[in-house]
Amino acid sequence: IMVRELESKPVIITHEDDRLKDVARKMVENNINHIPVVDSEGILKGIVTSWDIADAVARGKTRLRDVMTRKVIVAGENEPVDVVARRIDKYNISGLPIVDEENRVKGIVTAEDISRLIGKIE
Ligand code: SAM
Repeated sequence: IMVRELESKPVIITHEDDRLKDVARKMVENNINHIPVVDSEGILKGIVTSWDIADAVARGKTRLRDVMTRKVIVAGENEPVDVVARRIDKYNISGLPIVDEENRVKGIVTAEDISRLIGKIE
């Protein structure tokens, strides 16, 4: 099974100069935890999670660019699910963006998506 069969599309994205408050609202409204940060061409620039929002509140930060993670762990569209699952475990993260060769965001896959898949198999 390839990860692209599992990814959530269309993916909710945000931009580096967006306000943290709007990012938080997007998470709540869409019931999600991970939002990729992209530029105007859809190229991946970072990732922000609800954990980062909590951290920002704790430290009094208000700008996304000050709290987003810039070094993003990603998956390729044609990678098998088990390889991606191992990557999630290795880096202790709970979701990663799926990107194409140009680093354009195509989707997102979370540990929850993978658990759901395994739940269906067994
Ligand atoms: N283990 C929890 C989780 O999976 O969300 C929390 C710890 S995790 C180290 C939290 C940090 O990881 C946040 O700062 C977040 O921005 C970052 N993060 C989440 N997904 C990421 C990814 N795919 N690549 C790089 N960093 C990521």
